[in-house]
Amino acid sequence: MIARARVDGKFIAVGGPDPTSQPQIYTEANAVIVGEGEGSIPLWLDSWRIGAPEGRFEAAEKPDVTQTPIPRFDLISFDNYLHVGVQSSRGCPYNCEFCDIIELFGRRPRVKAPEQFVAELNRLYELGYRGWVDFTDDNFIGNRKLIKPLLQALCDWNREHNYPFIFSTEASLNLADDTELRCRTHS
Ligand code: SF4
Repeated sequence: MIARARVDGKFIAVGGPDPTSQPQIYTEANAVIVGEGEGSIPLWLDSWRIGAPEGRFEAAEKPDVTQTPIPRFDLISFDNYLHVGVQSSRGCPYNCEFCDIIELFGRRPRVKAPEQFVAELNRLYELGYRGWVDFTDDNFIGNRKLIKPLLQALCDWNREHNYPFIFSTEASLNLADDTELRCRTHS
């Protein structure tokens, strides 16, 4: 794809999980934006503004997700998507041998604040979206202590809004060992 875009003289910027995992494959791109967007995209844009848009851009630290802005859901057409993705946390404390999450997002799961997450749901609701909402978390229960208040806020919001969304996510099976979590994720 990079080769095809080059033929048309396009500026090519790549980023996301695969360029982060194996940036050596993307050396033909003009800009390789490595890591999580909150940190690395501003670095790239700052460099662009001073006339140096090419190279590899990577923030030194993983971002604090409690500072992540609400996604611009208003820029997409919901009809083009099977479901809308939201995210309450990143990272996972486990170390399954086939999984790259530890390298990409780290071992200490970072969790959004409940009110921050509810604000994302409110934005979706206000824009008229109804239906399937998928949590794109690496492991929804990676940080059990912080996810429980968020789940409670989610339950309350759901009840107050008459259950406008259907939720799905990925979580490790030890969720079943935690009675409180099991009940809340089920409700
Ligand atoms: S529990 Fe899931 S996210 Fe965590 S290391 Fe295993 S496969 Fe990866």
